[in-house]
Amino acid sequence: MEKGALSYEGKAKKIYQTDDPAFFWVEYLNQATALNGAKKDQIAGKGELNNQITGLIFDALKTAGIESHYVKQLSSTEQLIKKVAIIPLEVVVRNVAAGSFSRRLAIAEGTPLKFPIVEFYFKNDALDDPMITEDQIEVLEIATKAELAELKTLALAVNQALQKIFAVCGITLIDFKLEFGRQTDGTILLADEISPDTCRLWDTATQSHLDKDIYRRELGELVPVYQEVLDRLKESVACI
Ligand code: UDP
Repeated sequence: MEKGALSYEGKAKKIYQTDDPAFFWVEYLNQATALNGAKKDQIAGKGELNNQITGLIFDALKTAGIESHYVKQLSSTEQLIKKVAIIPLEVVVRNVAAGSFSRRLAIAEGTPLKFPIVEFYFKNDALDDPMITEDQIEVLEIATKAELAELKTLALAVNQALQKIFAVCGITLIDFKLEFGRQTDGTILLADEISPDTCRLWDTATQSHLDKDIYRRELGELVPVYQEVLDRLKESVACI
């Protein structure tokens, strides 16, 4: 497989074409951003950690019966993925109140939710990724009713599988964001990344943050924390 022209550059990843139109070559960057890009820093080692963590999680999900666009690692910072047309939605699942949920609704962070909830946000930097209702998604033809039902089912299935994987290594899955894409035949596939950049992960014993809130809230060094998540996940996957 040959690396081709740059196809898309995001905040945390560069996506390149390959000599096979069915695949993309992804490079994970060291850039960290928060506040829709207003806070930005280069953090050596972050790209490598998120590439490895995402690969490990997508492999574990596959074992649990959930397919994704992930194919294989290409280098410490690069991975091969199947090409999909990304649906411009951020699908957020929450098990415990935190972040924007806690701020908007004045619910203390750490309050367990009676059941996992799914929220949709419209991926649009100019609009600052606003929350969007299912009716709005349908009327704007971002996704159909049937696709929305499938996104929810898949998101909740990912939640169940991830909660199990993280529980084995003493991590509580507070919330996370997923993205999905359409394959050429229209079927939906889990895509993007799953890493401490896109999940809230709390140490179950100490409640300490093992995720991007370290960077967002300036709580300490990010790399040793992401390394700890990777090390614990490796142990967890080995005993599942
Ligand atoms: N999230 C993400 N990308 C975004 C927004 C949120 O990966 O652009 C993740 C975030 O890391 C958290 C979950 O989605 O795990 C819920 O985020 P929330 O709505 O609480 O927003 P935040 O307060 O993190 O901005």
